[in-house]
Amino acid sequence: MKIICIGRNYGAHAKELGNAIPEEPVIFLKPESALIPQGGPIRLPSFSKEIHHEIELVYRFERIGGMAEVNGVTIGLDLTARDVQQELKEKGLPWEKAKAFDGSAYVAEPFLGGAALTQRYQTFSLLRNGLVVQEGHNGQMIFNVETLITHVERYMRIETGDLLFTGTPAGVGPIAPGDRLEGILLDERKFDLRVEGPTP
Ligand code: ZN
Repeated sequence: MKIICIGRNYGAHAKELGNAIPEEPVIFLKPESALIPQGGPIRLPSFSKEIHHEIELVYRFERIGGMAEVNGVTIGLDLTARDVQQELKEKGLPWEKAKAFDGSAYVAEPFLGGAALTQRYQTFSLLRNGLVVQEGHNGQMIFNVETLITHVERYMRIETGDLLFTGTPAGVGPIAPGDRLEGILLDERKFDLRVEGPTP
């Protein structure tokens, strides 16, 4: 199983980090070992002083007759060591240390199928300590899911069980020990996670 992630897929978020609107999707990967167990907690890593929350729509795939088909949607967190990423970006190095570390991905289960997949707008939001810090919907994506699938598959086959993180809307920011992060998808609370400091 692989976790495929898309960067800079919402215009307002690309701008808030000083990035240009991309002409084609930005792709990176997280390993399965990045996943946080259901219910958390989020454990901050010791190598960074600036872990940012990025809430994203996450799609799950099934490969049917040679085609990658979406069979579920949920929300997840693409946790990012922004200080480390900034350094890597400046040096032109790959992002894995900032994006693929243990505990850098949360995927709220269960996935939703059926009506949730055919909703015109899959709306979602993130609350940090009770305040809405990020909100968006799939209609705001620069590249929609169909375009992303086609683009990703020019480079790598999407297999059954693979996940696609589709980018985050504006409002990313740091999290700290003691924080509570709640994720809402289509008016349903999908996660409620506590943030803890690094293991001593
Ligand atoms: Zn992201």
